[in-house]
Parts: sequence; C-alpha cells; structure tokens
Amino acid sequence: MSASINASELLQQHFGFSQFRPGQQQTIEHLLTGRSAAAIFPTGSGKSLCYQLPAMVLPHLTLVISPLLALMQDQLAFLHNKGIAAASIDSTQNFEQAKQVMQQVRAGQIKVLMISVERLKNERFRQFISQVPISLLVVDEAHCISEWGHNFRPDYLKLPHYCQSLNIPQVLLLTATATPAVIEDMAAKFQIAPECITTTGFYRSNLDLSVVAVSPQQRSDYLARYLDKARGQAAIVYVTQQQTAEQVAGQLQQQGHQVSAYHAGMDSDRRQQIQQQFMAGQLHCIVATIAFGMGIDKADIRHVLHYDLPKSVENYSQEIGRAGRDGNLSHCVVLANLSNRAVLENFIFGDTPEPASIRHVLDDIAQAGSQWELMDRQLSSASNIRPLPLRTLLVYLEMAGLIEAKYSYFAEVKFKLLVTEEQLINRFSGERQGFVTALLQACQKARIWWQVDFDALYQVYGSERSRALAALDYFAELGLIELQTKQMTEVYGVAQPLPALQPLLEQLSQQFADKERSEVARIDNLLGLLQTPDCVSHALASYFGDHAAPTACGHCSACRGRAVSLPEPPPLAIADDSQLSAWLAPLKQALQEQQLAYSPRLGARYLSALPSPWLTKLKASKMIGYGQQAQQPFLALEQALYKLT
Ligand SMILES: [Zn+2]
Repeated sequence: MSASINASELLQQHFGFSQFRPGQQQTIEHLLTGRSAAAIFPTGSGKSLCYQLPAMVLPHLTLVISPLLALMQDQLAFLHNKGIAAASIDSTQNFEQAKQVMQQVRAGQIKVLMISVERLKNERFRQFISQVPISLLVVDEAHCISEWGHNFRPDYLKLPHYCQSLNIPQVLLLTATATPAVIEDMAAKFQIAPECITTTGFYRSNLDLSVVAVSPQQRSDYLARYLDKARGQAAIVYVTQQQTAEQVAGQLQQQGHQVSAYHAGMDSDRRQQIQQQFMAGQLHCIVATIAFGMGIDKADIRHVLHYDLPKSVENYSQEIGRAGRDGNLSHCVVLANLSNRAVLENFIFGDTPEPASIRHVLDDIAQAGSQWELMDRQLSSASNIRPLPLRTLLVYLEMAGLIEAKYSYFAEVKFKLLVTEEQLINRFSGERQGFVTALLQACQKARIWWQVDFDALYQVYGSERSRALAALDYFAELGLIELQTKQMTEVYGVAQPLPALQPLLEQLSQQFADKERSEVARIDNLLGLLQTPDCVSHALASYFGDHAAPTACGHCSACRGRAVSLPEPPPLAIADDSQLSAWLAPLKQALQEQQLAYSPRLGARYLSALPSPWLTKLKASKMIGYGQQAQQPFLALEQALYKLT
C-alpha cells in the first residue's frame, strides 16, 4: 500500500475529511516515508493535521513542543474529539496529575504528548523522557528557533541538541511566518532536506491592502471616518501601546461605536468576555495591542487597521491574516508615518547587554566551581541585563558548552500550619512519623510562617530535600498546611576546566551586536514594504519567498497608483552638552553611591526612558533627565554621550 493511499484513507477514517488541504499531503507523505519535514502554511490552513495524522501510524510517541498553553489546550480538545490518546504536561497540573500522565506515557498509552520547551530544562523530565521511545518531534511556531525570526525564543535553540540526545529519528517543523533565511536556518539545524520543505502561498486574493500616509494628529479623525463607513462590520484596530488602546477605544465609544480596548494589562476574565462578545457580533470593533488574535478564529473580520506601524513584516502578515478567513473581500489599512520610528527602534537598544555586563556573568560562573546556582532576578539586577536577553545569554553559554542546565528549585520554602503540630505528626505512624517530626524540628519557626532548613534536616535525619518537598506538597494537598515557595533557583553544571573567557566574551558581544543589527533591519524591511512603488501584495509574498503571487494584484494602494512615500519628520537637535551633563548628573551620582559603573549606553538608555535593571534599582525614572531625549535616534544619542565623557 503506498503512503498516499494510506494517508487519504486515514484522513477519511479518523478525521472525517475527504480531501487534504494544500501542502498537507506532501508533508504527511514525507513523514510516513521516514523523513523529517517542514510545513510553512499561513495561519488557519491546517498545519496541525500534518502531525496528528502521522502520530496515529508511527510506532512510538509524538512529542509536540508548543509555545502557548491556549494552543495546547485547543489541539488537545481536537485530538480527544477524534479519539486520539493525547495529553500534556504543563504548569496548570499538580504533581500527581503530571505523574499520572508520565505513567501513561511510559506505558505507551499516549500517542501525542504536548509540552513547552521550558519543560526540557528540567533534568528529571529529561531523564524520564529519555526512557520513552519517541518517533517524531514536532516544533510548533518553529520560527522561534531562528535568531533571525521575529519571535526568537532562546530555549528553542537547544531543541536540535535535545533531539539528538533523545535519539528522535524524525522532526516536523511548523510555522506560519518564515522568510527564506529563517526557513534555511531552521531546516539546517534539523538537517531537513530542501525537497521536504513545503510552503503554500502567502498571497491572499481577497485582501485589499492599503497604506495611507496620515500624520499622528490626523489619525484619530481618519479612523473615526473610516469606521463610520464600515458600521456593523467586524474590525480590529492594532496599536502598539496599552494606553493608546484605551484612548482610541474611548474616543470611538464617544462617537457611538460599539468598540472595546483589548490588551495584556486587562485581567483574563475581562479579555475572555470581550473575545466572546466580538465572536458573537455584539462588539464590532476591537482596539488591540498584539496580544489580541492568537487563537481567534472569526471568519468574517472585514477590516484590519494599523493605527501604529506594525513591528515587522512578519507581524503585519500575521495581523492582516486574521481578516477575511471566509474568503470574502476584506480591507487592511496601515495609517503610516515615521514620527514613531525612533521609539520603535529604541526598544531594540534597550535589550543588548553591554560587554561589562556579560563579563559579570562570566566571572560569576568562573567563581562558582563545578556547579553554578542562579536566581534570575538577582543576576539580572547585578549584571544589568534584562530578563529576556539574560535568557538568551544563558542559552548561548549552554551552546558554547560552558554550562548545562540541570534542574531548578525554590530557595525559600515556607509554610503555615493549619492544624496543630501534634495533629500533623499524629496523622502518621512508624518511620514516617519520625520523618515528619524531624522535618518540623528542622524548621526556623516564626509566629506564623515556618521556614524549612533543608541542611538541618539532612544533618539530623539524613533525608534529602526532594523527600521533604514531596511531603510538604502532600500536607498542602490534605489541607494541613499552606505552602509558599519563592525565589526560583536554577542549577547549572559548569565545564571543567573552564575555557578562556576573553575570546568567549568577544564572541558573545559580537553575537548580540549582530542580533541588534538584524532587529533594526526588520524595521527597515517593513518601511520598505509599506512604501513599495510596485504591488504591496507581491512585495509581501516575495518577502516570504512565495514567487507565485501575481506581480500586480490590482487590489492594493500601489496597484491603484497610490503608493506612499513617507516624509521623514524634521530631525530634532540633540540637547547641548551642558544640558546633557545636567540631566546625567543625578544618575552618575546615584551610580557612584552604589559603586556601579557609568557607561554612555546606560546614559542613553536613561535619557531615552528605556528599561534597564540598574535604572530600576536606582529609581532613575524619578530623576530629572529620565526620558528627556526619548524621540532621539538611540545611536546618535549614545555617540553624543561618548564625546561628553
Ligand atoms: Zn497590488
């Protein structure tokens, strides 16, 4: 029986579909003939089926790496509905629930297991999963693995390594947005042959794309008039910041539109409610930050407007991709101007760690001996590296073989007794009673909260931390105590002997500098696309390597002869040296008091109001110079500060 007949039959039998959607069959056939594959399909075009069907035929487990809990739950519900044994191990489960899933996986009762990439950082989980035969590793949102992708997640970089060490013979990469460079990068990391990469088109004939030059002052009037004409039709307006979402939604409400803001600052119940009202057509328009849209499947969204510039071509493509899923004509409009460009770019410069900061981390590791323990927040604050770039740095160090993640634990374990000490002890008998007694004796007792001293427990009773933690979890479950765990501590093994640190420092600084340049280029690419004199649809498809799109779509602003050329706002002069020095004075003084080193980059972050752990620590936002030069291009400002020192 050939693979294709097999695949079609399975499709009908288990999923009740009579036909594959574009790209699905090729991808599934590659997998069924034992090869690795990649599927680059637009959102909503059936990527998941590409692993769901093979998972039923492959002899062992299919392990799916998924970036979002909500996506996992949707896919699990679908699989259960089709009668496929699937489960996840995730952060919403307690110890017992996770243990039960692990038992089922070990017994071969589960065909599909979904986890987040962070789960693999846990040495115990790695030990467990290394004993389970796995047929296929699926990486959802696989562009996260590429540093040149728009949503790089450092921990994804380690997946090829895990894949090898777990002896997983086949891989499937899934993504909706990947440029040719990103596809090449991720395919190379998993040795996927070019003929096993399937890309379906990015061109959407029912999307009318417009770019309109509108000044910041005219934007809200333009939007109000536009929505007046579109009354009763579903629309999403994208903005960059939460307060803009509130502001714009408020204005539109006053003008009688049924509209709501939507952003990550709202609580999840409220967000849920807004989503439901929008799905049901009770709300016509949502003014949202990019938090809106993941997992939204409303077929008849007629308008997607960008009030602020999208962050990248990838973001633009994903966001307009939510319009017109029903195939009917829908309009996508960008209200474009360059006034915000410096602000967009500056976010990038807030993230690059300085060489001295990287040096701090390297020295910390060098002093640790063979085992390095770190608490994210403390290290971030001590080294002045923001949490996400710090994650990236740690992964770079793992890739360079300097450190290896082992496990993590809570440094501080406190509990409050909800029964008396005797009652707790008397729940148990024999050896267990002895253990519970020793555990309680080994605590530092305050009036309400008791803190466990694991060393003392080991000294007097010889029992390990893990047993004590398991016991406390159990007490908490029985309602005997209230348990509080704090300060996640990560433990890494350190390579012995250490490699030379200076070359490593130079290599890492270079890596971060390259990354910074590629992020800035992302904004240039977007501005190039929006101002293309030719066809916008064509330029968008070409960006993603789809050369099958028509060269003139006939339904974009450029094809209508209205290509825009955005005027550069007049350059603002950087403040003069004496003004800059006056603004920097309180920062420099505070740094000196804390014995922290000043650098022009830190000064530029302060004047641009960019987040930075040291600035937070020094409460710099209360100082006179904070954010005074936020509209300036960062590099020019940094240059001016170099001359100043
Ligand atoms: Zn066109």
